[in-house]
Amino acid sequence: ATIAAQIAAGEVVERPASVIKELVENALDAGASRITIEVRGGGLRELKVQDDGCGIASHEVELAFERHATSKLQVADDLFNIRTLGFRGEALPSIASVAQLVCITRNANEEVGTELRIAGGDLQARVPCGCSPGTSISVRNLFYNLPVRREYLRSEATELSAISAVVQQYALAYPEVRFSMILDGRLALQTSGDGDRRSVLIEIYGLDIARQLLPVEAEVGEDLQAVRVSGLISPPELTRSSRSYIHVFVNRRALQPRGPLVAVVEDAYHTMLMKGRHPLVALDIRVHPTAVDVNVHPTKSEVKFRFGPQVHSAIGRAV
Ligand code: ADP
Ligand code: MG
Repeated sequence: ATIAAQIAAGEVVERPASVIKELVENALDAGASRITIEVRGGGLRELKVQDDGCGIASHEVELAFERHATSKLQVADDLFNIRTLGFRGEALPSIASVAQLVCITRNANEEVGTELRIAGGDLQARVPCGCSPGTSISVRNLFYNLPVRREYLRSEATELSAISAVVQQYALAYPEVRFSMILDGRLALQTSGDGDRRSVLIEIYGLDIARQLLPVEAEVGEDLQAVRVSGLISPPELTRSSRSYIHVFVNRRALQPRGPLVAVVEDAYHTMLMKGRHPLVALDIRVHPTAVDVNVHPTKSEVKFRFGPQVHSAIGRAV
């Protein structure tokens, strides 16, 4: 891989959890109904994401690993009308430039699948293969060609908890998708895919906590300015001492727990609370795709709204 490719990779691929985030987003964009995540050795030995989505047509597999070759944006105007989680065409080439990657994929319309092997950005092999429709991407020895970055990573336990947090976020944002997460051979999370957000919360936090959460809902504005907020929130006696139980999604995209929108949620909640406590909440915010700009940060985890006050008022009302 060129130095430039590796530097660019640093923007998207900071740690094992960022690889999982990008691969899971791709699986969701591919319309998967089942996604299996497997992690070995804190994510440094192997990260694997397997889905039953649309797969990649055999003549497009190489293209998927070329920089900025996304299949998800058609015209420039689409950048203000984003309906997929990915749109930059950066993740796969970035990941492939800093690891040993195996992609096995088959488009449902094709008889045979393709297996592609790439190491450090260089194509090693391409062979036809028999496989079920969908895509499996295995990423081994992340940062093997960037020893400094590899050393900089925290402990295996820290990386595993970052990976779990990413998977939990997407499982909550997509309750209709069946997620399985296997950490070092142990089934760490399995959701039913029945579409019920509370059932995902039961898997993550246990029945005792999840059944006490209260449903919230609000709708504000119309057409382009319409904002719909729905979700589940803890009653005051169930608050937490950390913000890591706050899950806020905008058009199904998970936001940073420290971002400005989370502050709005907390403000709405704090009026009836003691200091230092935080809600356990899963909040699903939907706005028109043209009313939000997700193109603010390479990891896409902060957003800008065209109609901020409507969003704030909808959150205030719901919470
Ligand atoms: P982006 O998601 O921004 O388009 P990526 O680098 O993440 O860019 O992926 C490049 C392309 O590879 C996607 O646009 C898509 O066409 C294809 N692709 C990647 N992962 C999958 C998957 N799991 N299933 C089907 N297609 C995929
Ligand atoms: Mg992507």
